[in-house]
Amino acid sequence: MATVEVRDLRKRYHDFLALDGVSLKAESGQLVTLLGPSGCGKSTTLRCLAGFLEPNGGEIMVEGESILGVPANRRGFGVVFQNYALFPHMSVAENIGYGLKLQKLSKSEIATRVHDVMELVRLGGLDDRLPRQISGGQQQRVALARALVLKPKLLLLDEPLANLDARLRDEVRWLIRDLQQQSGITAFYVTHDQSEAMAMSDMVAVMKAGRVAQFATPREIYQRPVERYVADFTGEANFLTCQSVTPQAEGRYAITAAGTTLELEGVPGIGAGAPAELLLRPEALSLTTPETGTFRGRVTKSAFLGAALHCEITLPGDNILKLAAEPNTDVRTGDEVGIDIDRSHAWLMPEVAP
Ligand code: ATP
Repeated sequence: MATVEVRDLRKRYHDFLALDGVSLKAESGQLVTLLGPSGCGKSTTLRCLAGFLEPNGGEIMVEGESILGVPANRRGFGVVFQNYALFPHMSVAENIGYGLKLQKLSKSEIATRVHDVMELVRLGGLDDRLPRQISGGQQQRVALARALVLKPKLLLLDEPLANLDARLRDEVRWLIRDLQQQSGITAFYVTHDQSEAMAMSDMVAVMKAGRVAQFATPREIYQRPVERYVADFTGEANFLTCQSVTPQAEGRYAITAAGTTLELEGVPGIGAGAPAELLLRPEALSLTTPETGTFRGRVTKSAFLGAALHCEITLPGDNILKLAAEPNTDVRTGDEVGIDIDRSHAWLMPEVAP
């Protein structure tokens, strides 16, 4: 299986720079997700990998060798798009076997491989149906089977779940991850859905305006984001502006925020007095009495959502913290409360232009 390295990739559409130096790497057998809002360059990166677009600069190496200039059909990659692009007049089995037919394999070998892959993606028995005679989730599995049957070196998936309803999305998501892990195939996966990215990936590249803002594991992206943009894009987040920052040992800081002084970890290299903000994920916060809390504030909203009581607490200086409390917590709008923070989930970041 393949190690893939993308180095300083640039792509211009006329005078618009869509990729402005994208670098990332997939180790053999990893699933790497490109995550980011619409227009940040995810699909352009994937299309350069697939060979549908020629970049204007940079390098793409597979197993240590450049693949730039190699036509898409010679790269040996499997590609799955959000619109499945199935041939409407061909049966499910014919759609899946089409690439093998082009490779001029024998009829019996094609039949065996198509049968095996159909079992793998749980399409057994649907061989003779036409694409319009099966559901959206099944069509997506046909597209996946059609890519997998060719035993590609690399699997490229561009928002493959975008057209499925929530329940099916969940099901096909796990199927893709299972198949990818079982087969040990290296894969790139494009999505703008953070929970999909977190659940499926070995590594996530959070993209911002044609660049990679952060490339790291889902855990690191979530717990140790390099900037607010990444923190915001990867889950619920509270931010507090710091009044003062004093670096301690490497990566540790003493800060003052909302009238409280704390020592905690953060992005290395933030200078003394530099503008910085504190990230507090909702699960880092718990309610306590006003006398004992790290912060003290007033409940300005509360809503019972079954599994949790969602509260909004306003701190001095009009800072607002959102948290999920234990559902039977007895607090009401207007109550004064204390908030404890779990410092292992608090994280200091430099303020960076959005
Ligand atoms: P989405 O989630 O909406 O698909 P994306 O992150 O995949 O977005 P890209 O499709 O890679 O984004 O597009 C990146 C930027 O390049 C966008 O601003 C887009 O408008 C622009 N772009 C893409 N294709 C072309 C093209 N053929 N000509 C001109 N501009 C393009």
